[in-house]
Amino acid sequence: MTGEDKPRVAFFDFTGCEGDQLQVINLEDRLLDLVEVVEVVSFREAMTEHSDEYEIAFVEGGVATAHDERRLTDIRDNADVVVALGSCAAFGGINALRNHQDFETVKERVYGEDADSITSYPIARPIEDVIEVEYEIPGCPIDREEFLGAVTALVNGAEPSIPNYPVCLECKFAENTCAFERGETCLGPITRGGCSATCVSAGTHCWGCRGMVDHPNEDAYTDVLEANGLTTEEVIEEYQLYWGWQRDQVAVADGDSQPVADGGER
Ligand code: SF4
Ligand code: SF4
Repeated sequence: MTGEDKPRVAFFDFTGCEGDQLQVINLEDRLLDLVEVVEVVSFREAMTEHSDEYEIAFVEGGVATAHDERRLTDIRDNADVVVALGSCAAFGGINALRNHQDFETVKERVYGEDADSITSYPIARPIEDVIEVEYEIPGCPIDREEFLGAVTALVNGAEPSIPNYPVCLECKFAENTCAFERGETCLGPITRGGCSATCVSAGTHCWGCRGMVDHPNEDAYTDVLEANGLTTEEVIEEYQLYWGWQRDQVAVADGDSQPVADGGER
């Protein structure tokens, strides 16, 4: 494939830790496979060159400021395909931890006497709340193989294959003892699989870092929850680490009014 017919790819970072782009850089020798099939024209974490001419934009991080919104709109204008990279971009992720806390208190805790200089919105949002997004690659951080698979699909004009089954399925394949049987709770029944249930295999439980499966109330592995006398809503309420934004979407889908985070309107 020559430089002329390779799709041009750009990476962008918004509010987040940049851990997903680091995963791409950590592909190391497999980066050579990547640049065989795409031309990377912008990647602040890895190169100084930049171009606004690209077909595919990978966007990491959530939306927290008015500046983020303007940048995203420009990216949308330039790109044919926008891919949300990682959980903050895909569904709010860790950034949205603040969505249900008093924002002034959060700012003071993090920035101390400089809190007043922070102009962020009190609510962190995924990028699809601002622009249209074609695909999402969840994870905190993303899985490198899943990323490579998504790039391969896009280059071949296919849709990236992101699982829509719960972590429980992979957990059973891994022959783990269920966290509920250990007297713990776990978000695995309603969390999107694709991680091989890595946290349960490591002796803990699923924290939901890959976000919810689609339609968790209908399609989730509810028999695990039911067997333990729990509902989807109860386990969501217990775990706020990643789902500060998504829990509101479930509430809206169920007919509740749109919740507004403490701290005011965005
Ligand atoms: S609830 Fe958690 S520990 Fe139990 S099977 Fe599902 S993912 Fe595994
Ligand atoms: S088990 Fe849950 S928290 Fe751990 S990597 Fe998988 S989705 Fe993320």
